[in-house]
Amino acid sequence: MNNPTSSRRKLLKQMGLGIGLAASSSLPASAAERAGVTSKTKQLLKTDVLVVGGGPAGIGAALGAARTGVKTLLIESCGFFGGVAAWSLGMPINQMRPERKPRSEIHELVIEKLLAYGEQSIYIGQHQLYCNVDYLKVAVLDALDEVGCKYLVHLSAADAVVEGNRVTGVVVSTKQGLATISAKVVVDCTGDADIAYFAGAETMMETKEPRMPSTLLLGMANVSPEQIRRVNMRKIADAARSKYPLLPKSWRLKPVSNCSHYWINHTGTRDIGQFDMTDPFERSEAECVSRRQALQMTCAMREFGGDELKEIELVATNPRIAVRETRRVKGSYILTEEDAVKGRTFEDVIAWRSGYLDLMGYKFTKMMIHDVPYRSILPEKVDALLTAGRCISATHVSMAAGKSMGNCVATGHAAGLAAAMAAKKGIQPRELKVAQLQDALRKDGVDLKMGGKIQVNVSGDRGV
Ligand SMILES: Cc1cc2nc3c(=O)[nH]c(=O)nc-3n(C[C@H](O)[C@H](O)[C@H](O)COP(=O)(O)OP(=O)(O)OC[C@H]3O[C@@H](n4cnc5c(N)ncnc54)[C@H](O)[C@@H]3O)c2cc1C
Repeated sequence: MNNPTSSRRKLLKQMGLGIGLAASSSLPASAAERAGVTSKTKQLLKTDVLVVGGGPAGIGAALGAARTGVKTLLIESCGFFGGVAAWSLGMPINQMRPERKPRSEIHELVIEKLLAYGEQSIYIGQHQLYCNVDYLKVAVLDALDEVGCKYLVHLSAADAVVEGNRVTGVVVSTKQGLATISAKVVVDCTGDADIAYFAGAETMMETKEPRMPSTLLLGMANVSPEQIRRVNMRKIADAARSKYPLLPKSWRLKPVSNCSHYWINHTGTRDIGQFDMTDPFERSEAECVSRRQALQMTCAMREFGGDELKEIELVATNPRIAVRETRRVKGSYILTEEDAVKGRTFEDVIAWRSGYLDLMGYKFTKMMIHDVPYRSILPEKVDALLTAGRCISATHVSMAAGKSMGNCVATGHAAGLAAAMAAKKGIQPRELKVAQLQDALRKDGVDLKMGGKIQVNVSGDRGV
């Protein structure tokens, strides 16, 4: 387990900075000062539910909360919403409509908004949804507008504001300096459990086994499906490795939605080193080395791919490296590998997770649909805070089992609804009657009896 207080202080000391852990009028003056929050700090906004991070989980949470009519604000550090789904240049959004069956009104709202842009924007497979990410970015805005959710991009949460054990808002970093946003309930959808960590909640990060790698995906053009079918990428990589040492073992080109250009997912940093993507130095190193890796892959294809690939060209990379695994919040229940493999069900089910248990080359195994209990999205001890997506309370292996984006939308949906219900009632999320949350989820089209079922044809992927 990480000790957020000591490791963060150590880091800030190393960096010569003076930002504190959490700020509130009840904290000693020095701590509030260190946080940069004074009585003069600008309050940017006040809301009922604040969702931090606009990836799949944040989108689910924002839509889930705002649809109840509760004042909801979604903030995101990038210039658009979608998180890894929008960065990754065409990668399938898995488990959004598994077995082509709707899984909730929230999932369907995003799909409906994409479909509105025509068939070039989306291709729906058996378990996968392939989309052109630039349509996705706008489709998400359309969905947020429809439910009346307020949103701001280019806004990073840099700290939590905490009173006693209750989160009352976040500190954001803006071009005008630090500012605060106050909220009755905050939903941490940062992927990295940033808000929980800033608030002093206990978080977990794998230290014994290798963590899943991070990857900068590539967008490629100037190549035909026939040319792609004729090349053996592993042989190209083997032949080119002495000149281009950062090459992954192999990779595949896959079509973007219904278009004629391609995206490449690959093992990223796996064979380069273990990076702690919450450490600013290591994250910076991983980003920079991955940018070199993407160019080495392109050069290798052009130089060692014969006539078929000599014209292939790199047309895009993610705006930032896509991170698979960092911190997770510790809740009063920690989901396990066994829960995933055996398809465990829970009385306090609020979502389900499906797909494959895929640890990115370290483990790949079938699993069953399994429940997520409410206890796994509630941080222990810290109030007015919920979490969703890849940073919910789960072991390292179980985190990999739940990482498909449709599952992250589902935990986001539940967390957003719970936050809205708690804010409306003026109670803490842990005081909410789970049965009421379950009823609200059912009204939104969620089937809470999926745990224990087996999925078919999960890997029905699209080739060239
Ligand atoms: C390389 C790669 C390939 C993958 N392949 C697939 C696949 O094929 N299919 C699939 O379904 N899943 C895939 N996954 C898994 C999936 O993408 C993730 O599990 C999922 O995106 C997690 O959703 P999330 O919303 O929890 O986090 P993220 O998608 O990471 O989103 C978090 C968001 O929060 C924002 N944020 C972070 N910190 C702050 C802050 N302090 N303030 C404000 N905003 C902040 C980030 O900018 C980001 O937009 C892949 C993941 C990776 C990295």
